[in-house]
Amino acid sequence: MNHPVSTLFPVADDTLIVGGQPLPRLAARVGRTPFYAYDRALISRRVAQLRATLPPQIKLHYALKANPMPALLGHLAQCIDGVDIASAGELKLALDAGIPPDAISFAGPGKTAAELAQAVAAGILVNIESVREIPLLAAASQEMGVPARVALRVNPDFELKAAGMKMGGGSKPFGIDAAMAPELLAAIGQTGLAFEGFHFFPGSQNLKSAAIVEAQQRSFALAVELAAHAPAAVKSLNLGGGFGIPYFPGETRLDIAPIAANLAAIAADAALALPRAEIVIELGRYLVGEAGIYVCRVIDRKLSRGQVFLVTDGGLHQHLSASGNFGQVLRKNYPVAIGTRIDHDCRETVSIVGPLCTPLDVLADRVQLPHAQPGDLVVIFQSGAYGASVSPQAFLAHPPVVEVLV
Ligand SMILES: *Cc1c(COP(=O)(O)O)cnc(C)c1O
Repeated sequence: MNHPVSTLFPVADDTLIVGGQPLPRLAARVGRTPFYAYDRALISRRVAQLRATLPPQIKLHYALKANPMPALLGHLAQCIDGVDIASAGELKLALDAGIPPDAISFAGPGKTAAELAQAVAAGILVNIESVREIPLLAAASQEMGVPARVALRVNPDFELKAAGMKMGGGSKPFGIDAAMAPELLAAIGQTGLAFEGFHFFPGSQNLKSAAIVEAQQRSFALAVELAAHAPAAVKSLNLGGGFGIPYFPGETRLDIAPIAANLAAIAADAALALPRAEIVIELGRYLVGEAGIYVCRVIDRKLSRGQVFLVTDGGLHQHLSASGNFGQVLRKNYPVAIGTRIDHDCRETVSIVGPLCTPLDVLADRVQLPHAQPGDLVVIFQSGAYGASVSPQAFLAHPPVVEVLV
């Protein structure tokens, strides 16, 4: 099955237009291939569409791990309400981008004592996900004379159905099992930490709005139940995200309308049950994934026993996700195009591979594409999230990939 070429990027004269420029012109200005290009207008449009659909009470956070490029973060900082980080390195990126500390929250297992102390010093919200973090936060609070701002990340007793990656329900390294939450809430109260609320993140890459609606309803109900054990009023209720984008043939776009309607109902209930709570959702790939492309150049065109291979200067060392080696069980192709021959009808079946000496270095396996030659630009769509930063760029000592915001 073939992908339709992404409709978010315009095409003129058979050539993809990126950031208002024909792709070869952009490649010339970047100066070398491969590169990632992220389109700021598409990011702004995505945020604006989402805001127009969601109820106004909902705060929109960006999960920095999806794409930590500083310029992109600086752009997003203008249009979102906060950022979720998962390391001291991401804390620095967020603060450098001008995100105010009260709009930053810190989740993740295995936070070190040093990271927790940095978080307290910065004045950001820490999502506690281990009993171990409580005395460390208390010590840092005492040392700095400011109480640590904390929320409890809860591992609920349900799963996010149909999620690409499940991060809640059952035995997980993330969050505190719901059954243990009352005990930790008591400990938070006894140690004098500033309790502010709850965090849920049951899973990622979900294209089924009914599953997201159900997870948000159950997370909200659990938060109301646990609030009875909390040492202070709930000021922040982060219901997670998990909004997916279509990557593979046959996948359809997530329908946001039912999620928005459900969040409006939750906001109305929260006004009574948790009257001081601000409701937050945190999104990564949904905000930036479709606004980014990966561009590499065809170096060679080879024929092996009847199969055509386009060998490019890009590969899994720079785009691990598109190679299928970042969490895919059965390898599937990302949407791909020849950037200067978008609509040519002289098509053939080709595989696009990278320059690495491993059979895993496949960017597209047996796809129908216009006939391409060395020098042509290959474009991989849906590449704005989990691209450069998740890729093993040191593997085989090729130069690092360039990233541009256009
Ligand atoms: C990874 C992660 C996200 C972002 O996930 P996306 O699928 O990119 O939206 C958000 N919150 C937490 C806690 C995460 O671990």
